[in-house]
Amino acid sequence: MLALPWIAGRPLANLAYGAQAGAARPNILFIMTDDHAAQAISCYGSKVNQTPNLDRIAKEGMRMDRVFATNSICTPSRATILTGKYSHLNGVPVFNRFDGSQPTVAKMLQRAGYYTSMIGKWHLGSDPTGFDYWNILPGQGVYNNPTLYDKDGSMVYKGYATDIITDLSIETLRNRPKDKPFFMMSHHKAPHREWTPDEKHRKMFENLRIPEPPNLRDDYAGRTDALREQKQSVFRDLTRRDLKLAPPPGLSGSQLNQWLNAKPDEVEIEVGGVKRRLAGKELEDWKYQRYMQDYLACVQSVDDNVGRMLDYLDSNGLRENTVVIYTSDQGFFLGEHGLYDKRFMYEESLRMPFLVRWPTGIRPGSTSDAIGINCDFAPTFLELAGQATPQDMQGRSFLPVWRGKTPGNWRRAMYYRYYHDPGDHNTRAHYGVRTATHKLIYFWKKDQWECYDLVADPQEMHNIYGDPKAQKTVAALKKELYRLKKEVRDDDQFAEKQPTESSYVQAPPRKQ
Ligand code: CA
Repeated sequence: MLALPWIAGRPLANLAYGAQAGAARPNILFIMTDDHAAQAISCYGSKVNQTPNLDRIAKEGMRMDRVFATNSICTPSRATILTGKYSHLNGVPVFNRFDGSQPTVAKMLQRAGYYTSMIGKWHLGSDPTGFDYWNILPGQGVYNNPTLYDKDGSMVYKGYATDIITDLSIETLRNRPKDKPFFMMSHHKAPHREWTPDEKHRKMFENLRIPEPPNLRDDYAGRTDALREQKQSVFRDLTRRDLKLAPPPGLSGSQLNQWLNAKPDEVEIEVGGVKRRLAGKELEDWKYQRYMQDYLACVQSVDDNVGRMLDYLDSNGLRENTVVIYTSDQGFFLGEHGLYDKRFMYEESLRMPFLVRWPTGIRPGSTSDAIGINCDFAPTFLELAGQATPQDMQGRSFLPVWRGKTPGNWRRAMYYRYYHDPGDHNTRAHYGVRTATHKLIYFWKKDQWECYDLVADPQEMHNIYGDPKAQKTVAALKKELYRLKKEVRDDDQFAEKQPTESSYVQAPPRKQ
């Protein structure tokens, strides 16, 4: 039997599924993009694009259909994934700096004998801790010729961010110590705003008519004020920069920025050498197409690069015992309710795509509708590594779900809370509960409620909160909401006052 010093004294029953005495613990490759909605992945039924490489993970592994972000925004979701805790306990409810001295899954895996690495978009304000190697974008980073920095300094890499992050991830795997299992977080910037595609895919959607979601022109009837007050509307709030409009010659500095950040209600385009002015409904249609063309082109490059990662594993003997996960830090609106961005608890934003392949542990082509949350990721990684979940983590390992044996006491509802108000896009703060069939949302600063029957109304268009026939359901959901709020120990720590937003770290001096 192989000596496993890192689990000395721990009963073998604690080993991961599929791991027999003497078998090596699995590697974990966690690929995460930024703002990639499940409805732009073909194995989730996309009507707007094809993602053959992402589909390959689902085909050779499992597609999880109900994995949700507990606070649908970039930095908080990342902090939750690292700590296994809700925002109010890891101290990152908004875009504030992550305290890297707290326990994280990376540190625990490192101590358990894993070679840990973090490549690409980090976006937590402080530098990574718990990684044997890291090389990250400063803050949001840029799409073209990005700077990345590691503990020794920064470098400009020529090319497109999605390709470069993949190159660096493969290079890190190639150079890793081969006597340890690895845990790699490979995090892409794409397809985050301002949705800059690479040259290869830039024109891919140009001459296609991308289907509009049926509720692109949602009139918000019967809903709370929150939808009417938001500033994340495809028709009203996309800027000239988002729409890739060319500035007039001669503008620079703050004048140029002002021009690019303006939200145009009239646009001049050129079709076949002829200039045309667009306004009104014609402009709205054009804005949706323009937005989606670039977003989907960014996704296409992600799909290609996930294919390259899978090919690297498969051709280097790493296929069988590597758990490959593809997810995104939250979902995104692709015109549903007339919106872009995320933040709201509506399905398209709440839901994280979650695909996982592990040939020795997961039956190919399986699916699960167990309710998962991003607090579950850290306990899952720990169980894979034969480690117990610390008591103060708030998630549960997915391993029994992956085995097709979801425990009878698995969660039947999840708790959500969004804080960034006032904040970008004027999205109102809210908390809520989602069950397999219903959703209840409370905008606490406005004291307004929304309730949806997700079976009868999957697009969440009919607020049944005030419907006399729904009162029993609403009461039961309210009870469950406050039970969960208490269970996750949310005692309104950040309800009134958000922590100060950090200015993100500057990249250290350039490497010689
Ligand atoms: Ca994000």
